Amino acid sequence: MTSFLSILTQYFGFSSFRGIQQDIIESIGAGKDTLGLMPTGGGKSITFQVPALAQEGLCLVISPLIALMKDQVTHLRAKGIKATAVYTGMSRDEVIVALENCIFGNYKFLYVAPERLSSELFQAKLRRMRVSFITVDEAHCISQWGYDFRPSYTQIAQIRKLLPGVPVLALTATATPAVVEDIQRQLGFREFNVKRMSFERKNLIYSVMKIRQSPEQELHELLIRVPGSAIVYTRSRLSTRELAAWLVAQGISATHYHAGLTNREKNERAEAWQRGKVRVMVATNAFGMGIDKSDVRLIVHVDVPDSPEAYFQEAGRAGRDGKEAHAVLLYDSHSVATLHRRIEDTYPPEEYVKKVYEDVCYFLQLAMGDGYGITREFNLEEFCHSFRHFPVRAYNALQLLSRAGYIEWADAEENRSRVMMKCHREELYSFHLPPLMDKVLQHLLRTCTGIFSEYAYIEEEEIAHALKLAENVVSEQLVELSRRHIMDFIPRKFIPYITFTQRRIEQEDIVLPPSVYANRKHELSQRIQTIIGYLQTPECRSRYLLAYFGEKEAKDCKHCDNCMERNVLPTIDEAYVRQRILTFVKEQRPTSFLQFHFADIPDSVVGRVLHEMMEEEEIELSPASEAKPS
Ligand code: ADP
Ligand code: MG
Repeated sequence: MTSFLSILTQYFGFSSFRGIQQDIIESIGAGKDTLGLMPTGGGKSITFQVPALAQEGLCLVISPLIALMKDQVTHLRAKGIKATAVYTGMSRDEVIVALENCIFGNYKFLYVAPERLSSELFQAKLRRMRVSFITVDEAHCISQWGYDFRPSYTQIAQIRKLLPGVPVLALTATATPAVVEDIQRQLGFREFNVKRMSFERKNLIYSVMKIRQSPEQELHELLIRVPGSAIVYTRSRLSTRELAAWLVAQGISATHYHAGLTNREKNERAEAWQRGKVRVMVATNAFGMGIDKSDVRLIVHVDVPDSPEAYFQEAGRAGRDGKEAHAVLLYDSHSVATLHRRIEDTYPPEEYVKKVYEDVCYFLQLAMGDGYGITREFNLEEFCHSFRHFPVRAYNALQLLSRAGYIEWADAEENRSRVMMKCHREELYSFHLPPLMDKVLQHLLRTCTGIFSEYAYIEEEEIAHALKLAENVVSEQLVELSRRHIMDFIPRKFIPYITFTQRRIEQEDIVLPPSVYANRKHELSQRIQTIIGYLQTPECRSRYLLAYFGEKEAKDCKHCDNCMERNVLPTIDEAYVRQRILTFVKEQRPTSFLQFHFADIPDSVVGRVLHEMMEEEEIELSPASEAKPS
């Protein structure tokens, strides 16, 4: 067996393991059920990829994030490692191809979305695979006490039964002590075995600030005080755009990001920011997973997040290089009330949830007793409009109905288009295709490796861009190639739908079990209490967060706002203030102190510097001076 270290160097190009990576790898490598706890960005992927490559067989990876899954598959394939993925939205043919490859094709990694685990097709194929071990990424999703419980994760226990003797590696970045225990229990660990790394981030300076005027002003000042790359988190898609535009108008380089952008926009913006071409990324929580920039100096939260787990992960994206970095949480006098309201929005009254069920049935014209297994297109916006529902609450009601098993609801989880060749390579020469079609085909053959044996993701927009064609022209060629049975083209779908998993019943008969409603609502309110506590605590902020994650022995960080008992952000650069004043005098010819007002510099600072400059006779203000001929 090749050593773990040589695999790390050969495939990943790193010279040594980081933190507890090696401990985790040796533990799972020795066949022991293992739970690895490492902070985000700690390098969890290596801990299953390296041991999987060191052994015979296939590593089954369960992950809830389709985008991340596709991303990892792409990266592994680029290294010449055979990897594939199975998730919702793939056609049956595609799934079969992927799974057969895992049985016969000597594949090393099969990524599956948890909701696939219960499918009979999947289970039947899985029995025939030679699995080395199971990796459960984001393992906290299996625990109802966690902040991101996903019922489909509970299927993993069943999967273990199909693969007797196969060990499991669970990985997570956020787990309170109760969750750590629960994960191991739920996954049926033969022996409890946790490899834990301290979550302390010594170079990260936490502070909490009350918004004095507006979030924009605070943000602007922060960005002037802390130079370098930054991420600003906000909860609404709209405000990502507005804030970024506002910053740009102030002369600060910024862009925005949220889940509603096209893949191309997302990639371009993430890359511009990653390469330092754009300084500030204003984003929703959709930004961050899989992002790996080491020199982020500042993370600002303009809205208070609703869990300490989420806050810790997002704040933790600053200062990966070990140099000083700031995590600032802004709040205002409404923040606490807003947080409480989020509990009510996420878990609206049961009567309301039942009403939504009833309304959906009317909307889709489903008669009583009808509906078992029926799938219908469902547009949430239209629904809310016709039935006068408040979108956030209706959305959450649908989530609850879906968790309680009454419906399956796929929100507009965008899935990419994909293609696979349906002919042999040799046949290609005999086709004599029209030039445009040939151009598109040749492009695919050049850019998608393995397209003869498996489906490859494509993006029409990208192909259009590369070939200088219109996007609809590219789509037409793909459809035509598919019609001629040269390839199978599965266009992306944006259509959200609802499937009824039971017959329509009377709304009074709807039951939301505690595991779906009461318990979870209680946990959410506890997390919200913890975050409110974070805002209000007079103690060390780092210690407060670490205690929540079970590190009770942590020491004061000695540099957060509470430890220092003052504002801990760097002071504004005086040279910058002087420059602004000089420019202002030159351009505006002010006649009084009162005219000096800069959006980004506190008036007190302007006043002090102005005073100094007058003393030094660097500037002079008087109506007379203006009148003086020079
Ligand atoms: P996590 O899943 O824990 O958030 P990832 O597995 O995505 O983290 O890894 C984060 C980053 O750390 C990646 O860019 C990865 O290449 C890098 N990394 C992981 N292990 C090492 C190592 N031993 N040496 C250097 N970089 C590493
Ligand atoms: Mg990860």
